[in-house]
Amino acid sequence: MQTSSQTGGAQVAATTQPAWVKSSIAKMASALVAKYGDSEQTRIQRGVHQVSEFWRADDGDAAAFEDFVRTNFAGNQATLDTLFDRYQRLLEQLDGHMHEINREFNQQSDLDLGPVLPFDELFAGYDPSAHVVDDFFNNKLAFIVLLNFPLTTLDERLKNGATWSRRQWAEVRLTQRFDKRIPADVNLAIARAGAESGQYIAEYNIWMYHLLDQQGQRVFPPKMRLLSHWNLRDEIKTDYADPQNSLPKQRMIQQVMERIVTQTIPEDVINNPGVDWNPYTNVVKPAAVKDADPPPGKASAKVSDAREPDTRYAVLQKDFLAAKKADPYSPTAPTLIDRRFDEDREIPEARLKAMLEQVLSSPLVGQTAALIQSRLGRPLEPFDVWYNGFRPGSQYTEAQLDEIVSKKYPTAEAYQKDIPNLLMKLGFSPERAQYVANNIIVDPARGSGHAMGSQMRSEKAHLRTRVEKTGMNYKGFNIAVHEMGHNVEQTFSLNDVDYTLLQGVPNTAFTEALAFVFQGHDLELLGLPAPDAKSQAEKTLNDFWGTYEIAGVALVDMGVWHWMYDHPQATPQQLNQATVQISKNIWNKYYAPVFHKNDVVLLGIYSHMIDSFLYLPDYPIGHMIAFQIEEQMRKAGAIGPEFERMAKMGRVTPDLWMEHATGKPVGPDALLEATQRALAAAGAAK
Ligand SMILES: [Zn+2]
Repeated sequence: MQTSSQTGGAQVAATTQPAWVKSSIAKMASALVAKYGDSEQTRIQRGVHQVSEFWRADDGDAAAFEDFVRTNFAGNQATLDTLFDRYQRLLEQLDGHMHEINREFNQQSDLDLGPVLPFDELFAGYDPSAHVVDDFFNNKLAFIVLLNFPLTTLDERLKNGATWSRRQWAEVRLTQRFDKRIPADVNLAIARAGAESGQYIAEYNIWMYHLLDQQGQRVFPPKMRLLSHWNLRDEIKTDYADPQNSLPKQRMIQQVMERIVTQTIPEDVINNPGVDWNPYTNVVKPAAVKDADPPPGKASAKVSDAREPDTRYAVLQKDFLAAKKADPYSPTAPTLIDRRFDEDREIPEARLKAMLEQVLSSPLVGQTAALIQSRLGRPLEPFDVWYNGFRPGSQYTEAQLDEIVSKKYPTAEAYQKDIPNLLMKLGFSPERAQYVANNIIVDPARGSGHAMGSQMRSEKAHLRTRVEKTGMNYKGFNIAVHEMGHNVEQTFSLNDVDYTLLQGVPNTAFTEALAFVFQGHDLELLGLPAPDAKSQAEKTLNDFWGTYEIAGVALVDMGVWHWMYDHPQATPQQLNQATVQISKNIWNKYYAPVFHKNDVVLLGIYSHMIDSFLYLPDYPIGHMIAFQIEEQMRKAGAIGPEFERMAKMGRVTPDLWMEHATGKPVGPDALLEATQRALAAAGAAK
């Protein structure tokens, strides 16, 4: 898919180039060919052109440019090899030590080590690597890479990547570090817009006790404050547990969400327990009962039903205008849409869209909907996109599991000691289990837990886990097993990959999928039976329904960003209307046939759409990737060797990685096949 402004970026970049560039390029290209021979011509032309694309007047005049090119072009293979090796080694050192500093600076806030003082937060917020790319352009280390190694487009990586050698892939990744040169003020503007939209979202609470239904009744408890959209959505989910009283609550939350999307929500009711609001009639009154103090600004304000004046869309538009400022400095991906799909995800937008549509239009949607309807005993309503009644049952209560875990792991050290044993249970040989365990350090986490890999081979991965005074509980163990999956991936994909420039996985969806494989076997690691087939089926149906929901949300996010690029001069009000229309269109196409209701705007409610710069498509892709990897593990039997084989592939494109791992490119087939089996199992169990 092309954006209307696809070609705009490169043109702007060209106009900022010094006037002498063209003739210097020609001059240097023929001088270098004369020196190194015709066989080097393609490489010479490519390199000189790449340098010129990023060269600015303050980098030097024509003589400086020509001198730079003459001095730094590696004219033969031996010099090129030395150059490559040196960059690989030194960048590993740079990344590794920067990461080490970051880890140390975050230690007090990340770990359970006593109070966090104000200066600890400042240390945690400091990133010593923030200006590395700028520095490398300023001291010309970046230009040397651009002169000698190829810049590629996603199209080239997809077309030719399968035939490239591993070294070529490493060169491609090296050059990609310097594929854009965004001025500091543009980065600052993007960061500022991101922070402001994050702030807008973070303060968007609805005080539920102050919502009145048609009869003027309060259906939610006092003091309940829900952040849009996460808490609102989660309340809809929670309410399924109480079918007697759920409907009025769930319908009311849907009504609130729709008012937020359409911006017909009265501004005074946002984050304000000082007013009562009927979201159906939209009448606002001073609160008849008090359960909390209104925030300072709103306390004395006159109560009004004036709508929020398209602030949601003004905030989103600021994100867009800030992101757009980077376009001229990113020649291989000249829009934010390109950067998200071609660089961050490395899956072309058109292909990703087709995958989403394959899920959305699958006949399995209707079958799953029918199953939900029969379980609910009523026709589906739009908020049932968040149905959460597919639940893997368990033979054990949480309390029983807590007891087993706390006995086994009274301390973080006890878990650390058991890692080789846990890995052997997952099918790793004793040698590989010990090797990986030696590369993992367990730390007591302040929060629920996380994994922090290292960026150089001389450092170890850190597993942060929460251990209560009474020992580890089941929830903590379940998370620790997930994080251990990350650590094992991090160890193989750094220490055992053939080029450190290829360290890692294609994107976060892959490391999450690998971590879920570990997490899914947590009961067996405790010596308990694995979840049974019915439980597996419920989990699969839950994932499928979640993918169906988020696939539509992702399409809205994509549609809105295209609309903004097509209408850069639009007003926030026009953006509001466009978003509402896009949400309705996608609903009408893929959801109305299942829910039997048209023109629902719920798909536009996600807060990420406002503050996360086209992040939402990551979610459905993550589900698909997880099922592909899970399916491959199922086929392979033992997890250990298969996990190691996959993780050592490193950071190539998602499709190439997945083909190596499973024999197929990224796609929804594994998810759909698992869902088909799950529906059969769930139907049989009925
Ligand atoms: Zn994770």
